[in-house]
Amino acid sequence: MARTRAYQASEAGKAASRNNHKNQVLKHPEKIFARQALRAAMMAGYIVAEPCKLCGNPKSEAHHTDYLDPFHVVWLCRKHHDEQHIRERGRKDGHLAGADASLFEEKPNA
Ligand SMILES: [Zn+2]
Ligand SMILES: [Zn+2]
Repeated sequence: MARTRAYQASEAGKAASRNNHKNQVLKHPEKIFARQALRAAMMAGYIVAEPCKLCGNPKSEAHHTDYLDPFHVVWLCRKHHDEQHIRERGRKDGHLAGADASLFEEKPNA
């Protein structure tokens, strides 16, 4: 990790990560919109973070299943969030259609 951090601290690294960020924004403006809208809703107290839906870890992150529906999120811990993105990436044509439907089924024993 130290090497990565050193690279990011260099000017070249900074420029690269800036460019990368800019590209991400241009490619997925709705992602930024969703995150900002969610943050605002959380600050206003409309949305409260919940523990990971899969394992109950209280350190959870909001996962958007549809960036155009910014308040519809699934709370997942870091690990399950990463896994969810890997699953979604593995499916054809992106993550919006690829949201794992099983996350939204209410489990009888949950
Ligand atoms: Zn989890
Ligand atoms: Zn996510």
